[in-house]
Amino acid sequence: MPNQFLIPNSKFLILMGAPGAGKGTQAAKIVEKYNIPQISTGDMFRAAIKDGTELGKRAKSFMDAGQLVPDEVTIGIVRERLAKSDCANGFILDGFPRTLEQADALTKILDELGTKLTRVLNIHVPAENLIERAIGRRICKNCGATYHVKFNPSTKGTNCDKCGGELFQRADDNADTMKNRLSVYEKSTRPLIDYYKAAGIYSEIDGTQPIDKVTEALFNVLSSVKE
Ligand SMILES: [Zn+2]
Repeated sequence: MPNQFLIPNSKFLILMGAPGAGKGTQAAKIVEKYNIPQISTGDMFRAAIKDGTELGKRAKSFMDAGQLVPDEVTIGIVRERLAKSDCANGFILDGFPRTLEQADALTKILDELGTKLTRVLNIHVPAENLIERAIGRRICKNCGATYHVKFNPSTKGTNCDKCGGELFQRADDNADTMKNRLSVYEKSTRPLIDYYKAAGIYSEIDGTQPIDKVTEALFNVLSSVKE
């Protein structure tokens, strides 16, 4: 079988970042620049279930029963997705792998596909900054626009600049909830960081910089990666 993964300058990426680190914004920039799909675990599950694939049906049966989807099913769904032609030039994986077992499985999947990861990018923002970002976040009840009381305030105070709607604070945007989420994230991510550091493909980007500087730093890492 011809190897579809021999396109030069391809980018097989994992993008990591704690909740609120700006991963979504930066992923969109990478997608645009390199014309590669962003692949989140949630999207993959939804697509597999919607398409009624065998693995999608199995995943759904666990989810309907309120159980965690076993690794073998998740990995199968990832394998099917990464083998599709739109991934031939690369992808950004988001939310996978979550465990060392999944990381090993991913290495094997890519090996079967005749490629390997180009880079694991981690947008790092210290916990205290993430907590400050979360507790100052305000969202428009009407149009969903987001603001920050300190970094991006509405000129209309407690109402939306765009539509005048009332701004509110999400219940989980508080310091205690954030501390818990970040501690769970930190614990689950640490082994993966060590794993990819050992593989020599890990890069940490300072996510406290302005958005365009973070993008620039990410692009710099990617353009300096040897193929
Ligand atoms: Zn609004």
